[in-house]
Amino acid sequence: MLDLLRELTLLESPSLEKPAADRCCGFLADQWQLRGGDVQVLKQPVRGNHLRVSWTAAASRSRRQLLVLGHYDTVYPTGSLAGMPFRVSAGKAYGPGTFDMKAGIVQALFAFEALQELKVPVARNLVFLWTSDEEIGSKSSRELIEGEARRSDAVFVLEPSLGPRGLLKTSRKGVGEAELIVHGRASHAGLEPEKGVNAIHELGAQIARIEKWNNYRHGIVVNANLIEGGSRTNVIADRAKATLDLRAWTVSDMRSLEKRLHSLKPSRRGARLELHGGFDRPPLERKRSAALFAQAKSLAKQFGLSLGEGAAGGGSDGSFTAALGVPTLDGLGAVGGGAHSPNEHVVVGTMPERAALLAALLATT
Ligand SMILES: [Zn+2]
Repeated sequence: MLDLLRELTLLESPSLEKPAADRCCGFLADQWQLRGGDVQVLKQPVRGNHLRVSWTAAASRSRRQLLVLGHYDTVYPTGSLAGMPFRVSAGKAYGPGTFDMKAGIVQALFAFEALQELKVPVARNLVFLWTSDEEIGSKSSRELIEGEARRSDAVFVLEPSLGPRGLLKTSRKGVGEAELIVHGRASHAGLEPEKGVNAIHELGAQIARIEKWNNYRHGIVVNANLIEGGSRTNVIADRAKATLDLRAWTVSDMRSLEKRLHSLKPSRRGARLELHGGFDRPPLERKRSAALFAQAKSLAKQFGLSLGEGAAGGGSDGSFTAALGVPTLDGLGAVGGGAHSPNEHVVVGTMPERAALLAALLATT
């Protein structure tokens, strides 16, 4: 498993560099083919290619399937290996993308291999989908993911687990981004200030209003984290823009937040508001993962592992599948830490355990 993780990490695969991503995808395709998967490289014009691996169960009589989902892209540009080389030290494997989520892909590959080698009867067809643009919002893969999810009875997401105990992610916040643009009217700040409509002042008033919507207890969080506007100090600003980060635990909170944003009205005469965007990834509500988690917990107990669950403040591609109503269990990938940082690593000893857990889930779901 470590050898494969090393090879996969050395094939740097940033979301924004297609040639590098494609090389990594090609390597993965070979690995799955070697182990008896039916491999389809789904060519993409701009982003890295996506990889779909299918396997038809001998006992299967239906066209329904189980979906194993993950991404092979990372947030690290090529050359990052020079500053954070792949290395194993004190039971941890370090390197760009090891935790998020190349070790998860390795675990899935070994789970697949184990099922075949041990001739474990599997009742459902299996589809493994490895995409290239999760870290940048999954624009080129979302439709594909949703299409596969609709044919699936359950989705297992190989994103990293949570914290040192490796908690599975049974809920995730929905995440979005919205732009609030204010159009005012420019005028000379000294000669005729009364003719102007100050877009920055209007934006300030809107932000003060929006700030009051925050409800940390319920996990509703909205923040203006970027603002811009105006042209010169002596010109009354005719344009201002805020980019808002949006988060919510439930679909209904997500909807009401979007509704509130769209119903904002200007408070100054002559000002006009424009709103773009909204939630990109809907919340993954616990009700979509509770049954699968209970099953995972009881399977883990059979091999002497105690499995916990936790909630994540951001979304993944599992958010898309859960939003379709398909049972989804996330965080089944590596145990480790330091995602998106120079310290990114996985705990090597947990890789076979988590691979076994996935194999057991695939065999019993
Ligand atoms: Zn990830």
